[in-house]
Amino acid sequence: MSASPALYDLAPAVLTVDLDALARNYHTLAAVSGRPVHPVVKADSYGLGAAACARRLIAEGARTFFVARAAEGVALRSALGPEAIIYVLDGCHGDVIADLKAADLRPVVNQPGQLQAWTAANGGAWGLQIDTGMNRLGFRPENAPDPSEGLTLVMSHLACADEPQSPMNRRQRDTFAGIADRYPDTPKSFANSGGCFLGDDFGFDAVRPGVCLYGGGPEGRPDPRIAAVATFSAEVVQVRDVPVGETVGYSCGFKPDRPTRIATVAAGYADGVLRSYTGRGSGQVWLNDGLRPIVGRVSMDVIAVDVTDAPDTAVGDRAELFGANRPLDDAATAAGTISYELITSITPRVPRRYLG
Ligand SMILES: *Cc1c(COP(=O)(O)O)cnc(C)c1O
Repeated sequence: MSASPALYDLAPAVLTVDLDALARNYHTLAAVSGRPVHPVVKADSYGLGAAACARRLIAEGARTFFVARAAEGVALRSALGPEAIIYVLDGCHGDVIADLKAADLRPVVNQPGQLQAWTAANGGAWGLQIDTGMNRLGFRPENAPDPSEGLTLVMSHLACADEPQSPMNRRQRDTFAGIADRYPDTPKSFANSGGCFLGDDFGFDAVRPGVCLYGGGPEGRPDPRIAAVATFSAEVVQVRDVPVGETVGYSCGFKPDRPTRIATVAAGYADGVLRSYTGRGSGQVWLNDGLRPIVGRVSMDVIAVDVTDAPDTAVGDRAELFGANRPLDDAATAAGTISYELITSITPRVPRRYLG
């Protein structure tokens, strides 16, 4: 951002990241799983800022991280220095091998061509992804390569970890356990956030959580064991009374049936307020000590909030779109999506502020 620091401080919409809460979630996941935690910091730590989050996680004891893209790995390497171990889940398609090597990144190799290319390039350390049923990335078990030079991690990924009752979880675990025996000398990683809570035999050697570090519940709803990390808040910039017969916002999207006080809050879809709140009737923000409905259409820069029941709401008050008072998972459900999408949707226009 090129705005002056003072102007940046005045930004009406802000994403506050509580690094102490991140640290608490890290230790909770380590305790619940009984395993070392290898944080997933892809997509800029799910939108919260990978450099700041990973630095704090290193201070808490983490050493190994996962990103999705090679470019994310390159950026993380320059933020963290040479000590961190960084795996790239995308693997290595030909074009990125030189960059992976230059930044000492480890591809999670997911198909034979990648393994050949990495070996031919003398790539060095690498991870191996086995597909145990998700049919997304990785070698099918029957095609899994023999252990070879540089292999430092064997991993797989759960399709239904957020549904503890799903028989798919055990099926995948057993498939992975079977294949793991072929790599007795290599550490194994299986569990994402939800997997950390599925029981000891899902832990293998290290767990690989993402969303629970950042405050999302393991089952898509708020979980008392997981602390809120991200708070997305925005300022009230106008309050007005709308008489019956008038309408609010684009396409006259809200027609009050009682005299209504509307607070205009300075966050819209260009900040990451999903437009899918529109028309669902379930969008709410925490404002003036209560949950208040988002009404009418989400527009680019603002939303309208019905504060008739909190009539002293004033310009300068802050509305919380998610955070400790409006759980991330509840906000996501109200928008018809999941916590992951909600936090990764906060746009670059919104400054990140770090606490702790
Ligand atoms: C994103 C991802 C994770 C982390 O998943 P969460 O559900 O956020 O904990 C772990 N492993 C792989 C392969 C992933 O793609």
